Amino acid sequence: MAQSLDPATRQALQARVRFYRDLGLTEFYRRPVDPALLATLVAEAEESQAESATQSFQLPETETESRPESQEEQPISPRRPFPNAPVVADAVPAAERAAAMQLIRDEIGECTRCALHKGRNKLVFGDGSPTARLMFVGEGPGADEDAQGLPFVGKAGQLLNNMIAAMGLKREEVYIANVVKCRPPNNRVPEPEEGATCSPFLFRQIDVVRPEVLVALGATAATWLLGTRQPLAGLRGRIHRVRGTKLIVTYHPAYLLRDPRQKKEAWADLQIAMKELGLKPPAKG
Ligand code: SF4
Repeated sequence: MAQSLDPATRQALQARVRFYRDLGLTEFYRRPVDPALLATLVAEAEESQAESATQSFQLPETETESRPESQEEQPISPRRPFPNAPVVADAVPAAERAAAMQLIRDEIGECTRCALHKGRNKLVFGDGSPTARLMFVGEGPGADEDAQGLPFVGKAGQLLNNMIAAMGLKREEVYIANVVKCRPPNNRVPEPEEGATCSPFLFRQIDVVRPEVLVALGATAATWLLGTRQPLAGLRGRIHRVRGTKLIVTYHPAYLLRDPRQKKEAWADLQIAMKELGLKPPAKG
């Protein structure tokens, strides 16, 4: 009887039946076999084979949790032609940059130029020194930023602060802004219309700061700064030229929080920026 078999024997019999069935032998036995037992073993063998086939197409849990960079950092979809970048403005004297930045802020006002204004709590203009040598550009505000009206103040912001400190700088010594100044619903990637409407303000901020090095955080920032849609992997590790300044492309801190294995790569990108700025990491003490 089927119930009288111990687990090891049952398993061995299942394997044997599977083996015979693979050979095309379905009625091979030495002595009369209980038909109920044979039917049970055949059914269990089929079930076990189906299960192992399913498992062979599943990724381990750790691999499904940390998505590849290409899925996390998708550039905007090509729904309409990329707008031409505005003409680079004349340099603003360092002493007048704070006032020039305020003029841009005043012009934006309580902006309703694109649909993103409908869901925002606070417009996130930018933060930092208008005379910074280094400027970071992200994609858009998240929930914390939307609540506080400042860029990169949530968990990703904390990581960005750590990255800035690792470069030997203070947050107040750099300038930080985003492609869009209002939070996209559910943190989605800004639509082309939204990026095209808002990014001219970012370009004007860049023109005022005139940083020696710009760092694009993620594919969306890189896309809008470079005016081309390319995978992030093809843009990292080299110096681009944008609006008269050097541009380094690296991962968005939010992506690094999801996949910390890429921090090493991001640090390599930041070291390119540091070399251009003549910076050395602070001594550990
Ligand atoms: S995202 Fe930019 S263009 Fe759109 S409403 Fe906000 S400030 Fe205006």
